[in-house]
Amino acid sequence: MDALLSSITERQTPLTETLVKLAQINSGTLNRAGVNQVGELLSKMFCARLNCHHQQHAVAASTQLRTDGSAEEHRLGDLHILSKRPDAPLQVLLTGHLDTVFPADSAFQRCQWLDDQTLQGPGVSDMKGGLLVMLEALSAFEQSPLTQRLGWTVILNPDEEIGSPGSAAILAQQAQQHDLGLIYEPALPNGQLAGERKGSGNFTALFTGVAAHAGREHHLGRNAICAMAEFITAVDQLNGRRDGVTLNIGVADGGETTNQVPDQARCRFNIRTRISADEQWCQQQLQIIQQQINSKEGISLTLHGSFGRPPKQLDQAHLALFQLVTECSGLLGAPLAWESTGGCCDGNNLSAAGLPNVDTLGVQGGHIHSHSEFIRLPSLVERAQLSAMILLRLAEQPDTWLRNRM
Ligand SMILES: [Zn+2]
Repeated sequence: MDALLSSITERQTPLTETLVKLAQINSGTLNRAGVNQVGELLSKMFCARLNCHHQQHAVAASTQLRTDGSAEEHRLGDLHILSKRPDAPLQVLLTGHLDTVFPADSAFQRCQWLDDQTLQGPGVSDMKGGLLVMLEALSAFEQSPLTQRLGWTVILNPDEEIGSPGSAAILAQQAQQHDLGLIYEPALPNGQLAGERKGSGNFTALFTGVAAHAGREHHLGRNAICAMAEFITAVDQLNGRRDGVTLNIGVADGGETTNQVPDQARCRFNIRTRISADEQWCQQQLQIIQQQINSKEGISLTLHGSFGRPPKQLDQAHLALFQLVTECSGLLGAPLAWESTGGCCDGNNLSAAGLPNVDTLGVQGGHIHSHSEFIRLPSLVERAQLSAMILLRLAEQPDTWLRNRM
């Protein structure tokens, strides 16, 4: 095992160079060409080093409602599935996303060294560094004598940063065919692992009123923006009413000019939940508010959206896997613990589909989703060694980790 792990140490320079190259290809979720470019580059690297099977899938488009209720469709990049030894006793699913939060026209496009161990750049931590960790760990594992006991599937998805609307179905289906999941989101800023994660839902509220001239016929108008303002206040007041549930109005727009009573408005909001029963509570509260708004003459409110990611809660199977990761990190000299977080990721989706998983096996860095995102470069090697050790330990005792797959 030691020889395999120390071989990763020599990979620091090529890993860093590849990371710079990947980070400087813009792959904001809606930049389909950029996401596909990163997907193509990476899948070629996986195939070349791991001699694995490769499939490329188109995913459903992402839709967003405009203020007038019409749908705006965005085609997403392709999803890649790479796999090896589907008949081995133990099946491990590894996932990572190709997209970043930085759109094609973002000012944040280039990498910059902050010191010789720290690189700033778009997606270096979240999660192009993690994708390379995954590749490096699998490459080391493939040199071991235990490979026949463990088969694996890698999913590279194009849309995690918008909640995986296009890839959710494939993730859920693959989750059912595997025994456990390893996900390469960045570690928490202090280097620790994420344990429990909140659930999340995205919603759009559309308001229709009656247009009228602001001067001559103001009394005939029914103001959609004012109705929206009441709705926003009522939704915001739900904060603090239920433990662990937060509601955030993130976008609001409507109207076109000041001399007209606006007949259209739209707001978009996000809800975070702690336990699955929170979803029903939120739906009930929203329904009450909706009825109040709809009882106003001339005003109509429709609600769209859903809870795309249930909360991730840690059952016995998750705890056993976390224990293994902790042991491995201890053997490597930097024992890790886990903490709960309000953020969510594809680990929520995989848990909801019944697959125990650890979802922060990627690199260590910070300020993710901001223009000062950085990676601590030695974590590329450290985390690849951690994952290689996890794979080796899993393969040593495959029977311990089997579960009833579909
Ligand atoms: Zn991420």
